[in-house]
Amino acid sequence: MKSILYIMTLSMCMAAQTASVSAQTADDFSYNDERFADLQMLRYKVEGFEKLTLRQKTFIYYLQEAALTGRDILFDQNGRYNLRIRHALERIYTDWQGDRQSANFRALEVYLKRVWFSNGIHHHYGCEKFVPGFSETFFREAARTVGVAPTLIDEVCPVMFDPNLMQKRVNLAEGEDLVLTSASNYYRGVTQQEAEDFYTAMKDPSDPHPVMFGMNSRLVKENGRIYEKRWTTTGLYGQALSRIVNLLRLARPYADDADQQAVIDKLVEFYTTGDLKTFDDYTILWAGNTAPLVDFVNGFTECYGDPLGLKCSWESIVNFKDLEATKRTETLSHNAQWFEDHSPVDPRFRKDKVKGISAKVITAAILGGDLYPSTAIGINLPNSDWVRREHGSKSVTIGNLTDAYNKAARGNGFLEEFAIDAATVKMVREYGDLTDDLHTDLHECLGHGSGRLLAGVDPDSLKAYGSTIEEARADLFGLYYVADPKLVELGLTPNLEAYKAQYYTYMMNGLMTQLVRIQPGNNIEEAHMRNRALIAHWCYEQGRADNVVQLVKRDGKTCVQINDYVKLRTLFGRLLAEIQRVKSEGDYAGAQALVEQYGVKVDPALHREVLDRYQRLDLAPYKGFINPVYTAVRDAQGNITDVTVSYNEGYAAQMLRYSRDYETLPLVND
Ligand code: ZN
Repeated sequence: MKSILYIMTLSMCMAAQTASVSAQTADDFSYNDERFADLQMLRYKVEGFEKLTLRQKTFIYYLQEAALTGRDILFDQNGRYNLRIRHALERIYTDWQGDRQSANFRALEVYLKRVWFSNGIHHHYGCEKFVPGFSETFFREAARTVGVAPTLIDEVCPVMFDPNLMQKRVNLAEGEDLVLTSASNYYRGVTQQEAEDFYTAMKDPSDPHPVMFGMNSRLVKENGRIYEKRWTTTGLYGQALSRIVNLLRLARPYADDADQQAVIDKLVEFYTTGDLKTFDDYTILWAGNTAPLVDFVNGFTECYGDPLGLKCSWESIVNFKDLEATKRTETLSHNAQWFEDHSPVDPRFRKDKVKGISAKVITAAILGGDLYPSTAIGINLPNSDWVRREHGSKSVTIGNLTDAYNKAARGNGFLEEFAIDAATVKMVREYGDLTDDLHTDLHECLGHGSGRLLAGVDPDSLKAYGSTIEEARADLFGLYYVADPKLVELGLTPNLEAYKAQYYTYMMNGLMTQLVRIQPGNNIEEAHMRNRALIAHWCYEQGRADNVVQLVKRDGKTCVQINDYVKLRTLFGRLLAEIQRVKSEGDYAGAQALVEQYGVKVDPALHREVLDRYQRLDLAPYKGFINPVYTAVRDAQGNITDVTVSYNEGYAAQMLRYSRDYETLPLVND
């Protein structure tokens, strides 16, 4: 599971930032880079890379190559025609000899940049299909003149230009066939009912160690037969996975210890066989391998792209521990049992013994697959419920990315526009960064790891509502505890007031400002956004009689006013108890009622107002990162003698280079 940024563009006082950062920003490094459509590209610094040993640098070098090599897999997972469309667009972008200042060409350039960003033709967040700003006639003519195959042009044109075809990448609209109406490429020719029946038949409810059925395959119906096409080195995506396996083998000798080599061996075995028990074995080894400084995620990981929450998109991150900042998360994880025992949920749903939660703050060295360019700021893995219960999980907060977001957003006016008054702005500036980091830590290293299912409850029983409920559970755990005196006692918050900054920004975001990410007329779809709307609207409504939270007008503008922070904490606790009950009992109807009532609908008048105010600030609602470039320095024998990192590659140049150097799949993968 992952946390994504939600305080999108707060302007923060950076006085408290660590000296090590400012020391290395004296050069011309800029956190903000190119901007287009609704996107702002940022850069991140890999602080401390130069200080690593040659062995660690070499390990990172091969792992980052492996991270970049899975890019085509994600493009194909996100949609059947994505690789073909990317190919045609890139050919036009690089080779077309016509008027490159024309409106059509410039619109095509923006469209291509969005396709790169989303790893496909649907919005990375809202999931709706992009509307090309250029004509089909222009596209056909330009593609023809640069030599794109006529059959390919005919195939992709309806997909790109017909608004009724493949409208949404992930459709979660209640009452529709979610499989047939989602454009993601995880099912072919099967209905939602057929897919659910297929996987229900595989499950043994009495198995205490169920594998994650379906997580590494496409489910297809051919000639009346329904079966899985597995993603393995010899199956679907085999060309890409073979290359990844080769790079993992090159990295292996430079691993930190024999345990880490065993992790790599198990991952290679999984990629080779596709065996799901092997995958569980791999995640157990991976979760237990906490000693090395350098670590990585590489594989089929998160299931947000599948409306049924089974199929995992490919992603990778390579990172190393930020030892100083990790002291913060270690304090939390050392006290994990205390937090579990004091949580407001029914004791039946708590863990008697919290196992092996390891938490660290990391420095990202490269982002790949479903973490690039749009990324998470916190990750907690593995996702298998029983593995987490019996073997624990690894939780990370990505320090250098959070830092880059904060620095890039300095002084952009967002907080002044939406917060209710100067005192609130001051409070958020003072404590916002700190409590936001803490909330992410609590969410990842304790929230997702807390609680348990009752015996015999199917972990998938919440179906399409599962992701939203799980994120709400982790967020509420963080919200409840960020206000706890225990955090002051542990030295994590400076006083009993700091948490109010987190409460205010969370409610402001859930009730209002996250709507800047939604097109007028649309509902909320994405799981993290649904969860925030659910929490904020539930507390707003449940606290109405006591006037806990209000929406008030200031100079004609709607603002959130929190009248009683203590009662708000009580409400977060009550909702956490209820959400945990829903999860522990597998109460589908309960999950459905909560999500549909509080997490989906948008007040059109408030939405319009928020969009108008946001538009006047002239900010991009979404951000993503350009990766640094690693270069291996070799001696005459070809041995790596050093690895250098640079930050000056442009967005389009990086994307074109990735398409060229990491083109691992054919254009058609059927
Ligand atoms: Zn999460």
